[in-house]
Amino acid sequence: MTHSLSHDTICAIATPLGVGGIGVVRLSGSDAMAIAGKFFTSRRDSAPAGELRQAAGHTVHHGWVIDPSTAECIDEVLLTLMRAPRTYTRDDVVEISGHGGPRVLAKILEACLAAGARLAEPGEFTKRAFLSGRLDLTQAEAVMALIHAESEAAHRLALRQLQGDVAAAVRALREELLALLAECEAGLDFVEQGIASPSAKQLRARLPHIQARLTTLLDSAQTGAWLRDGVQTVIAGRPNVGKSSLFNILVQKNRAIVTPYPGTTRDVLEETITVDGFPLRLLDMAGLRDSPDPIEQEGIARAGRALDEADLVLLVLDGSEPLREEDRTLLGRVPADRTIVIINKIDLAPSVDDAALLAQRPTVRLSALRNIGCDKLKTSIGRLLTEKTGGLTGRAIISSSRHRQALTIAVESIDRAASAADSELSAEFIAADLNEAVRQLGSILGVDGSLTEEILSSIFNKFCIGK
Ligand code: GDP
Repeated sequence: MTHSLSHDTICAIATPLGVGGIGVVRLSGSDAMAIAGKFFTSRRDSAPAGELRQAAGHTVHHGWVIDPSTAECIDEVLLTLMRAPRTYTRDDVVEISGHGGPRVLAKILEACLAAGARLAEPGEFTKRAFLSGRLDLTQAEAVMALIHAESEAAHRLALRQLQGDVAAAVRALREELLALLAECEAGLDFVEQGIASPSAKQLRARLPHIQARLTTLLDSAQTGAWLRDGVQTVIAGRPNVGKSSLFNILVQKNRAIVTPYPGTTRDVLEETITVDGFPLRLLDMAGLRDSPDPIEQEGIARAGRALDEADLVLLVLDGSEPLREEDRTLLGRVPADRTIVIINKIDLAPSVDDAALLAQRPTVRLSALRNIGCDKLKTSIGRLLTEKTGGLTGRAIISSSRHRQALTIAVESIDRAASAADSELSAEFIAADLNEAVRQLGSILGVDGSLTEEILSSIFNKFCIGK
């Protein structure tokens, strides 16, 4: 690796800036105790005297932070002292919990700097946790995802990654590939000694299993993106079929304007709801029809684009009227594998007739006005998403684009290795492709030798200071 772990002592305010009950300043490094001892005293009437040097690890101390240059008392604090190696960074760590005001915390931080600590870079504590082997790279990235998680699903996803499920899946695949590679290379290195590399036929037999597992892992990236960013769900339909009413019922508030006049929804409204653990970014948009009004036209153009990009389409039809040409056009236009057809207004006399047309897709009958059948719609959405993703439990889910990229290249390399084996090319070619796949999987975990400072910085610079 091109980067090395340093043990100089870093410090930062670890809590958000602003006013709060408490705020924390964190120190980490080989001199953390000595530095804190220069400004901390457990007896208010005596000056700091380095009393923390002998203190046992994982203990909490009550006392005062004193500015040694002026002897002025800065704050009354609780100081948590953690000795290496059982700490976040595996270095000595001191966390000073003071009163949560920006001025107080800035003064405690100044005391740390004056006593010899250096201001931490963004993510430097977590970077040290990675470089010291306390976390692998997927777990370090999960720390950031956890901090930034806003939805329930994103939180769960980040936590699973932090607990190591992505790392375990990647590591197992990498080890299997390494074993295969070792056999291939032993054959290459010791041809004269009579050690044969596995024959193309043997390799061909062993690769599909690895290929399948890699592909499953890569496919989970779609689920990961849905959990992280939400399933883009478009409520589509011609004007006045009840799209806005359905939107309001699903988000459980009166967000969209409902009127009996066609063409009132002119812009795209968005709200997030959760169905069976999936966050749905629900979009209500202009009814799709030809209109002379330029503002409505723009709304319709946006609705068309959203339809093309949608992960899920809820196509609303008015069940109290026969299907119109516009409905048929829409039924032909929506993506069949990710559309649920909703026959709305079942509280009125039924009139939608075209059973054959509708039978091709999941269909739910409901009344948005009277709130009848909306649970059935949620069940239907949950079923479709579970079918598409294979469910959310019992397997690793990829949610980082960096991991997705590396897995894509790994899959391509294994595909190449398989065709090289098919064409009975020399083991050297196969070994080169296997090597590339191993390298890519290693880069996900951060165990690859080519992991550059640049890549590491690009990961950790996105962290906040103090993490
Ligand atoms: P949009 O133009 O597709 O968004 O449709 P709206 O939600 O604005 O509804 C158009 C009209 O249909 C309004 O007068 C609603 O009250 C009415 N409407 C919507 N859903 C139902 C329903 O389930 N039953 C009945 N009877 N009327 C409904």
